[in-house]
Amino acid sequence: MEGYKRCPYCGEEIPESATKCMYCTAWLNEPQAATQAQPVSDQPQPVQVQEQLQLVSQKNGFGNAGLVLSILGLALFWIPLVNLVLWFLGLLFSFIGVFRRPKGKAIAGLIISGVCAVFLIGIGASIFELDLFEDLFDDFEDLFDTVAL
Ligand SMILES: [Zn+2]
Repeated sequence: MEGYKRCPYCGEEIPESATKCMYCTAWLNEPQAATQAQPVSDQPQPVQVQEQLQLVSQKNGFGNAGLVLSILGLALFWIPLVNLVLWFLGLLFSFIGVFRRPKGKAIAGLIISGVCAVFLIGIGASIFELDLFEDLFDDFEDLFDTVAL
């Protein structure tokens, strides 16, 4: 578009030599540099928004996996071995996920893993106690047999 410039007042294209805009009738006394200045570009803004969207849509695979595994571990805490494996993997993935973004789910996974650990310790303790009671019961049985004889 050589030989043309934009009117700084209305934005219409007018001949470069014009001293008065034929559209808005404004006088063009400014130096050429000012009249040639491009309209304020709003390109930086969309780019910024795009970056933010990318950040939001970024997925924390480890965090998600950690959360899912922790929940599974909690739901299946009554299955021996499976609970240990799920708990360990959930804790591991959540821990890795905490160092990535977004880490909300990874932190949730860590918390659930902690709850899961309490359950597992509780189960371990109760099994130990059951064994203890069984031994005691056997002892009483022996005692009873001895007395009966
Ligand atoms: Zn104009």
